[in-house]
Amino acid sequence: MRFASLGSGSAGNCLVVEKANTRLLLDCGFSPNEVVKRLQKLDLTPEQMTGILVTHEHDDHAKGAFKFAAKYNLPVWLSHGSLKMCQRYIPESALIQINIIDSHTQFSIENIQINPYPVPHDAREPTQFTFSDGNHKLGVLTDAGSSTAHIEQILTGCDGLVLECNHDLNMLENGPYAWPLKKRVGSRLGHLDNQSAAALLAKLDNSKLKHIIAAHLSAKNNRSDLAKNALSQVLNCAQDWVGIAQQDDGFAWRSFN
Ligand SMILES: [Zn+2]
Ligand SMILES: [Zn+2]
Repeated sequence: MRFASLGSGSAGNCLVVEKANTRLLLDCGFSPNEVVKRLQKLDLTPEQMTGILVTHEHDDHAKGAFKFAAKYNLPVWLSHGSLKMCQRYIPESALIQINIIDSHTQFSIENIQINPYPVPHDAREPTQFTFSDGNHKLGVLTDAGSSTAHIEQILTGCDGLVLECNHDLNMLENGPYAWPLKKRVGSRLGHLDNQSAAALLAKLDNSKLKHIIAAHLSAKNNRSDLAKNALSQVLNCAQDWVGIAQQDDGFAWRSFN
């Protein structure tokens, strides 16, 4: 199993998880043309994709998902609440195979087992995921305002972890956002800041961890070095061992083998 990102942040998110010929997109906040362009950098074509999972209805995750699915005839998986809130993104007269998931029930798509889990975020039924090929577990958590015991239970023992480090608390407080937006981002239904991400990481069994990537960084309220510093302190590793999912070009393939 390997994974890569096409981009991460409030201007669009999209992650690829691959096991043999099964290739899943997690979220699609970019236009179909942009996704094709970004897939090319990973030597992938849209025809090679198996399906799309959508975590929640916010633009940066869902905006392009249904257009891409309609154009390339791909099935979509998402929670009932997310589907309800995503109606505006579904192209008229499009015939998309939509699969409703329960956020506590595991399922498989071909070679990949998927474990959904609910998170606190200001969306209708936001769901995050772990992926497994039977040998390795990849955990993904973005768009969560706070951690929960359930999140910790799900994310413990991962071989790879993509973890939101949205903002630095000081930068958010002193930054350019208007007060209501500062309050929303920093709330328990908003986004994880560097220190909260680090505190969550510290509670996990990281003995198998081969990849840690900070994701969904705010362009205005965070810096890569701050996120790297927060996570590397927990893992007692070099700062450069912590990867960053960039807005413009995500990150290149990461493999477990
Ligand atoms: Zn987001
Ligand atoms: Zn969101």
